[in-house]
Amino acid sequence: MTAKEIRQAFLDFFAAKGHTIVPSAPIVVKNDPTLMFTNAGMNQFKDIFLGEAPAKYPRVADTQRCLRVSGKHNDLEEVGIDTYHHTMFEMLGNWSFGDYFKKEAIDWSWELLTEVYKLPKDRLYVTYFEGDAKEGLEKDTETLNLWKQYVAEDHILPGNKKDNFWEMGETGPCGPCSEIHFDSRPDNERAEVSGATLVNADHDQVIEIWNNVFMQFNRVKDGSLHPLPAKHVDTGMGFERLVRVLQGKTSNYDTDVFQEMIQFIAQKSGKTYNSKALPPGEGLGGASSDWNDAVAMRVMADHIRAISFAIADGQLPASNKAGYVIRRILRRAVRYSYQTLGFKEPFFNQLVPLLAEQFKGVFDELYTQKDFVQKVIREEEISFLRTLQRGIDLFETEIEILKKNTDFLASPENTEDWSEKTKDGIEKYYTTIDGNFAFELYDTFGFPIDLTELMARERGFKVNMEVFNKALQEQKTRSRAATAIDTGDWTVLQDDDSVEFTGYDETESVAHIIKYRKV
Ligand code: ATP
Ligand code: MG
Ligand code: MG
Ligand code: MG
Repeated sequence: MTAKEIRQAFLDFFAAKGHTIVPSAPIVVKNDPTLMFTNAGMNQFKDIFLGEAPAKYPRVADTQRCLRVSGKHNDLEEVGIDTYHHTMFEMLGNWSFGDYFKKEAIDWSWELLTEVYKLPKDRLYVTYFEGDAKEGLEKDTETLNLWKQYVAEDHILPGNKKDNFWEMGETGPCGPCSEIHFDSRPDNERAEVSGATLVNADHDQVIEIWNNVFMQFNRVKDGSLHPLPAKHVDTGMGFERLVRVLQGKTSNYDTDVFQEMIQFIAQKSGKTYNSKALPPGEGLGGASSDWNDAVAMRVMADHIRAISFAIADGQLPASNKAGYVIRRILRRAVRYSYQTLGFKEPFFNQLVPLLAEQFKGVFDELYTQKDFVQKVIREEEISFLRTLQRGIDLFETEIEILKKNTDFLASPENTEDWSEKTKDGIEKYYTTIDGNFAFELYDTFGFPIDLTELMARERGFKVNMEVFNKALQEQKTRSRAATAIDTGDWTVLQDDDSVEFTGYDETESVAHIIKYRKV
């Protein structure tokens, strides 16, 4: 099945079960101070769950574009390194607002996965909430028993409050949840180590695909739980992960959701994409340029989605707030494009037409604005490329100096604070990059701090964040004072006090130019 067919099959299945198919909400959230971007399918139904708005339909289903790059859900650091966390992804979901509950939700998720999609049952694992005596929460026996009808007992796993109890916030609706995981390891590996031990262990081939949340309580201010008068179901399935398991792949990036884009990048850069390249420290030979290239291609194919949909939904890259989150992601991708893959001219924006075509008929918002979106990204690229090389040169010089010092510092009595064991038990020595230097890169060369941290990490260094934050704070105080005194226009332009100059602002910021024109 193609990705398109898989998405449609999901929607058709739930439509046939009496669900109304609704459109995705925008990825950009306006008017909610607690949330910048949509991070789950349920966001657009929040008021219904809180009892503040009536449900239009008792059952709905959709595919929601989500972004997990900030706040409680921030997967940015995993993206491109692992095979199943994206910045932007689609969350397929079905909901019951006071209508059906656990039985139907479980019956239908099993029916869809094993009868429509025909996933092999012995590769599926399900979880239920084991209870938490300290918190006065009961074990979810109902869910356990419902699963027993379908699933062998050694494939049903108890889960703790962290993984299997969902809460909207400190107060409000909450309840147990049940996850479905898929084991795609080869048979010999499965025979050796049971998939049950790898669920929730961050294993690349035993991944969570679907979460079913059963909202049955309301937590009030004193912390006590009260049964909700109307119980709800809220489910979310990662579309790209589903496509990967259905297409028999070991990476989301090997599916038709990403391959066209990755092959385009590979071809234009004159490199090949090696999906199986190993990270440094794993396998023979250690770090390979194959690995670096593959990460860069994955990051670009991923990030273009986040940036394009954010822009299409009204969030331009900018120097503060949500706009700065988008600019940070963009610059991260452009650095990989430039330094790792060798694109010296603006290239990243050329992915937009491919993406728009792919989502035609699914999220038409992108298709109808594709020229504008591409233009904004191109402008951003041009301005960052202006300072990127100089920043990289300075960074390299700094690394050279630090490396010379490392030998000196690596004496045993000095290692306590700055050595750490990696996952494989290898002792790594870090020395820190001066926070003031990181600030200069940020302020004058437009390097977002997480980009400098990433570049540092690639070379085995850390950034002294304490010093960086102090420098940033000082600059904010200075710029606030300057704003008040001599640049009256800025006072109008800033809609928030956390001004974040990124250097060369007057030329680089499309958002600024547009905002400026408005004034
Ligand atoms: P994980 O444990 O893998 O980080 P999660 O428990 O944070 O996932 P949920 O909040 O339960 O995810 O979201 C529902 C579903 O959305 C998940 O089961 C998964 O399939 C998918 N999903 C979550 N985060 C991502 C992501 N960053 N990229 C792609 N799919 C995701
Ligand atoms: Mg997560
Ligand atoms: Mg999880
Ligand atoms: Mg989950």
